[in-house]
Amino acid sequence: MSERTRTAGDGRELPDNVRAIVDEIETEIGDLGLVGTTSSGTNGRIEAAVRDILVEIGEDPEREGLRRTPERMHRMYAELTAGYHVDPQRLINEAVFEVEYSEMVVVKDIPFYSLCEHHLLPFFGSAHVAYVPKGRVLGLSKIPRIVEMYARRLQVQERMTQQIAEFLMDRLEPSGVGVVVEATHLCAAMRGVRKPGTVMTTAHVLGLFRRSDKTRAEFFAHLGRSAPGA
Ligand SMILES: [Zn+2]
Repeated sequence: MSERTRTAGDGRELPDNVRAIVDEIETEIGDLGLVGTTSSGTNGRIEAAVRDILVEIGEDPEREGLRRTPERMHRMYAELTAGYHVDPQRLINEAVFEVEYSEMVVVKDIPFYSLCEHHLLPFFGSAHVAYVPKGRVLGLSKIPRIVEMYARRLQVQERMTQQIAEFLMDRLEPSGVGVVVEATHLCAAMRGVRKPGTVMTTAHVLGLFRRSDKTRAEFFAHLGRSAPGA
């Protein structure tokens, strides 16, 4: 199968476990399965770097519990950043439909897990995505995949929120887009900067959602809250 040989941006072949996640985001298949895949294309640099970190924090990388940690971390980081390799065109392929419908489409409570780029610790929560179509709609199952494509990268929540909104604006050319993301950041919770469990909310609105108080209010009403500044 030709897709199997597609490579990462730098020309390296993607390991099977990462390829499987990329395929899953791009296509409708939900059960490709990650068990038993191998990490090909390894040059050992991540493993060596993780071993250095273990030594620097005073651990013994050779002790039983840690011996395979560098390898596991390599595999894990490749999977958690698989979003870099998703082809957006394949993702929305054949899922854009011409319709007359011009009422707001809202997809709420899309769960996601991402990594903050400042600490490489998880931040996770829900994304809520809405748009007002102008002749074209996107298959509903694609919206969580767009979130996934941007979540599986090193991120800051504000940028992720903006990227999701701009992607829909570019690809669908709707009247407007609204995205709200609510997330808990482990770098804040674990390090005691904020109270544990504090949820950060970000919003990005474009087009009609930016211009019209009424549209924005309708969106926030769908989410069960009042619009900021309304
Ligand atoms: Zn952080």
